Amino acid sequence: MTDPAFRRILLKLSGEALMGGLPYGADPDRIGAIAKQVKAVSDRGVEIAIVVGGGNIYRGMKGAADGMDRATGDYMGMLATVLNALALQDALEKVGAVTRVQSAITISEVAEPYIRRRAMRHLEKGRIVIFAAGTGNPFFTTDTAAALRALEIHAETILMAKNGVEGVYSADPREDPDAHFIEEITHQGAIEQRLQVMDSTALSLCMDNGLPINVFNMDDERNIDRIVCGERVGTVVRSG
Ligand code: UDP
Repeated sequence: MTDPAFRRILLKLSGEALMGGLPYGADPDRIGAIAKQVKAVSDRGVEIAIVVGGGNIYRGMKGAADGMDRATGDYMGMLATVLNALALQDALEKVGAVTRVQSAITISEVAEPYIRRRAMRHLEKGRIVIFAAGTGNPFFTTDTAAALRALEIHAETILMAKNGVEGVYSADPREDPDAHFIEEITHQGAIEQRLQVMDSTALSLCMDNGLPINVFNMDDERNIDRIVCGERVGTVVRSG
């Protein structure tokens, strides 16, 4: 077995990554497949924390566009991430992983509150920690939660899962036939060129703290393991 290149990673899964072929919600087969990949990486001895999005269920922006108070919509979005976190926890436990969900919003009956030191202790014990409810603040996204939590727990990289694309392109390859694939770029370059890595708040946080990001295609089931083993997969965003 190849020695892993990372000791501790943070995986960001958008809500969309859980949808599979469904138009809405989470697909149990898809979540099951993700759980298997995550378990395999954990079995290598890599400590893994996950931030899940909620866009497959609800987005605050959508509520605001329909006339709802933005903050209220965002809290609904955060609750959507909790639903996804519980579904993912269930799937991970089915494949034999030990997990904990920590929520940025207190919901003590269903998840632990977010306590940084406790999260790190879980990771040290080989438990997979799922961070739910984003940052706990409206007007933010789960991308920012991923950057924030990765920095807090001293993850060595963020694995940004994408669907249907290999990584970062100069433009959306599904819309622009001239879009070219970018193997490596600096945070600054990605911000200046407005590339689809993560939102700008999250990307700035990674840039300011020199945190690398591996953007990869989640549709290829070997990818997480390959990145963890140090293979060149997808796009790497790092300080220049
Ligand atoms: N959200 C929020 N604060 C956070 C994280 C998420 O208000 O720190 C809300 C926001 O409304 C967002 C929704 O939760 O639209 C779902 O998260 P996100 O859009 O990041 O999910 P993804 O696109 O990754 O599926």
